[in-house]
Amino acid sequence: MIDYRSDTVTRPTPGMLEAMNQAVVGDDVFGEDPTVNRLEKMSAALFGKPSAVFCPSGTMTNQIAIKCHTQPGDEVICDFLSHIYQYEGGGIAFNSGVSVRLINGDKGRITADQVLEAINPIDVHKAITSLVSLENTANRGGGSCYDIHEIQRIREVCTQKSLQLHLDGARIFNALVAKSESPLRYGELFDSISICLSKGLGAPVGSVLIGDTPFIQQARRIRKVFGGGMRQAGSIAAAGIYALENHIARLASDHYHAQLIAAAWEKKSFIGSIYPVETNIIIFEVSNTYTAPQLAVKLKENDILAIAISPRMIRMVVHLDIHELDVERTIDVIGRL
Ligand SMILES: *Cc1c(COP(=O)(O)O)cnc(C)c1O
Repeated sequence: MIDYRSDTVTRPTPGMLEAMNQAVVGDDVFGEDPTVNRLEKMSAALFGKPSAVFCPSGTMTNQIAIKCHTQPGDEVICDFLSHIYQYEGGGIAFNSGVSVRLINGDKGRITADQVLEAINPIDVHKAITSLVSLENTANRGGGSCYDIHEIQRIREVCTQKSLQLHLDGARIFNALVAKSESPLRYGELFDSISICLSKGLGAPVGSVLIGDTPFIQQARRIRKVFGGGMRQAGSIAAAGIYALENHIARLASDHYHAQLIAAAWEKKSFIGSIYPVETNIIIFEVSNTYTAPQLAVKLKENDILAIAISPRMIRMVVHLDIHELDVERTIDVIGRL
């Protein structure tokens, strides 16, 4: 099977397994796991921030960030397609008692003007707007990337209105590679950044929340409350360190492969619009002949796995375990459909 369902399906490479095997570990809840400490230092330094905390999932890093940045009854501004709203089990309400102000952005991306309009006035009738959350790349936007200048304008609005700014950077490295941008710039613009090691970077588990020291101290407390304090977590942190050291630059080849696959779909008469392929995600509309679930079944008969994300839309994600030959075979299968 060639598995395009998500970039979370990757298996650790031999080099990564070796690093995991050799990891020196300790009790991380006591702050004594040297490998976790190294991963946290390294992640913080990469974005030019003072501190970071290692967590089991990107859902947890996002939810901890929202909890730390808000008080119950507050409101968070985010795009309608955001992972924090669509795919975290209603955690914003459940964990933080916070409501959302949803923006209909452009493929998951919102603008400074939209943020400005969505901020509630100081009025007893209104929830207090305290946080803006951006997603880059935007998963449901087809891996779309923000223009850094728009983020800068959103930062200015947040500073002016005393709002915190969080980045769901589950796939920030895809954006950095696609746009040739520096993580340090992102560190300057955001109050907190969540990165996933288990997506395109290929680690089996783990996300890191990055921010200022008092914020991360509070995040560490909330991680414990949420049940995310891990003990000898160095074995999995070692996979994360290996991923940061070895698997960032290669994302460019995933992006190239995604372009080739999208080009193959473009030639098919039963395909409607294809979202611009900016990184490793391909989302397209199936216009006739098949519904999206039917096309997914057709692909599966040819040993290719994709996800029907709606009755008319298919998503494919390219990753570490999709090799050049897999891409060639995929294009061949698409050609024969
Ligand atoms: C995958 C993902 C997350 C976190 O997911 P986990 O499975 O909890 O690690 C967060 N945001 C986005 C945009 C994602 O794609």
